[in-house]
Amino acid sequence: MTATRLALELAVTLRHDGHGGVADDLAGPEGLAVWVRERAALLDCADDPAVPDEALHTAVRELRAAIRSLFARAVRPGPPSSADAHRLLPEEEALRRLNAAVALVPMTPRLSWDPGAPPAVRHHPAGSPPPADRIVAALARAALAFLAGPDRALLRACPAPRCVRYFVKDHARQEWCTPSCGNRARVARHHERRREEQGGAP
Ligand SMILES: [Zn+2]
Repeated sequence: MTATRLALELAVTLRHDGHGGVADDLAGPEGLAVWVRERAALLDCADDPAVPDEALHTAVRELRAAIRSLFARAVRPGPPSSADAHRLLPEEEALRRLNAAVALVPMTPRLSWDPGAPPAVRHHPAGSPPPADRIVAALARAALAFLAGPDRALLRACPAPRCVRYFVKDHARQEWCTPSCGNRARVARHHERRREEQGGAP
């Protein structure tokens, strides 16, 4: 579930701006700094925080483009998010980029066995990779787990007017990313029907 959440949260940093356009929460390194700080534990950098610079900013955005390209593939035959449908990274390049990001930080399993608890295997970064690499690799591992896992089949691009979000369906009949998108879509359908009725009247 953590993997699904992280991969999805990175994808939806490209979002509707409320005025018919697209906003980017990661438009600059400052935006990335806030985003990373809020997820430090999941991103494997809580103890050793990275200061997002231009290089990390570029790396995360390039990974996001790869993830969004693979999300567009995952939702087929449904349409992809309209935010970047016209400029998707080729899938081969997206896969190469995702796998290269995962490979930045090799992980090794470690056994722990606390008194009174069953033995547990946890994966840790091998060696001491730089914090920036840990962030990019943690995001890429999350995307890899999500795309190869059961939640991928539940991924959708929200079809509400102006919405550009991807979401994972919580239940079979869920059509929209949020109730507010559902309301907006129903209002739009209603107006559409009214227009057709009036247009069809003599
Ligand atoms: Zn939506």
